[in-house]
Amino acid sequence: MLYWDYAAAAPPYDEVVQTVEQIMRLHYANPSSLHRAGVEAERLITRAREVCAAALAVQPHEILFTSGATESNNLAIKGAALQYKARGRHIVTTQLEHPSVYESCRQLRELGWEVTFVAPASTGIVDPADIAAAIRPDTVLVSVMHVNNEIGTVQPLREIGQAIKAVNRRTLFHVDGVQGYGKLETRLKEWQAELYSLSPHKIRGPRGTGILVVREGTALFPLLTGGSHENGNRAGTENVAGIVASAKAVRMSGERREELGRRLIPLRNRLLHFIAGMPELILNSGEDGAPHIVHFSYPGMKGEVLARKLEELGMTVSTRSACSSRLAEPSRILLSIGRDVPAALGGIRISLGDIHTEADVALLEQALLAAVQSLKKAEGGLK
Ligand code: PMP
Repeated sequence: MLYWDYAAAAPPYDEVVQTVEQIMRLHYANPSSLHRAGVEAERLITRAREVCAAALAVQPHEILFTSGATESNNLAIKGAALQYKARGRHIVTTQLEHPSVYESCRQLRELGWEVTFVAPASTGIVDPADIAAAIRPDTVLVSVMHVNNEIGTVQPLREIGQAIKAVNRRTLFHVDGVQGYGKLETRLKEWQAELYSLSPHKIRGPRGTGILVVREGTALFPLLTGGSHENGNRAGTENVAGIVASAKAVRMSGERREELGRRLIPLRNRLLHFIAGMPELILNSGEDGAPHIVHFSYPGMKGEVLARKLEELGMTVSTRSACSSRLAEPSRILLSIGRDVPAALGGIRISLGDIHTEADVALLEQALLAAVQSLKKAEGGLK
């Protein structure tokens, strides 16, 4: 089987697996304990915080460890909304966001906040002017993702940051960086982002740990209360092994970003050209997108039928993002860029990683051809 679902979960680096095992065996003490073993575990977390801070060009006290980017996004959005509710109760986000952002905003709306969901252009890119136009004196937060997890479009974060601050300096900017880190440059200062979410398991780190950058001067209302862990921002005994291994993945994928981009771009472009040459398929991603995501639709054919066929042919692909793949409805993301319902039901996402070679892509192309031919032959029923 060839695995083409890196955007859902990437296989952990060997060093990450070794670190998790080593820390679980040797450093099981509670980092809050005052004995020597506890202090040693706490020191490991401090070191991991420094490693992440260096990779993201922020201060160590600006790094907060969570259980995953879903929690980071929930904390950034609801934590900021609750903390700054006296400033206003309006939030701006986009129609492209991951469910952890989208549903956090929808939940706040049920609780009395107003939310503006800005539509992207048909290219999947949000116009910074549309963000600026949505901002009001009572807008406390704008949340925009770096790279879309389904179609791989890259948002103009620097321009969006500038647009936000030009309208309202007090409006906070949150970036969901999950699909961007390790593939594209991360420049929080240039983007003027106060909040930034990261998911180690997408960058060959462990599952069950997340990162939220909270820039100095920004406070969040804690969603998990209890002990004073993570500087009072997130209670709960720390996942020491996960945190240390996450820091390793953040460092390694940060260091390898440029090389990975250089390797993946020609592979992605080759695949894009191949798909563009298949009359049955419509591309939903392009050469201006992230280097690891190729997304296309087979209008009239359910995505899962094609995905199952490809799996029979030895290729593991995804129908959309993992968090939405069990939904029977058309993709909200594809509808937002103007695709019709048959196309929005027939999407396939291929996501590349550092193991893939030109020969693997050639095999995938052959499988795509065979899968589409075979489905076309199967009389109507599957459609
Ligand atoms: N944001 C984006 C853009 C994602 O792709 C994902 C993972 N599907 C998340 C947030 C949630 O991350 P996690 O799996 O760490 O909760």
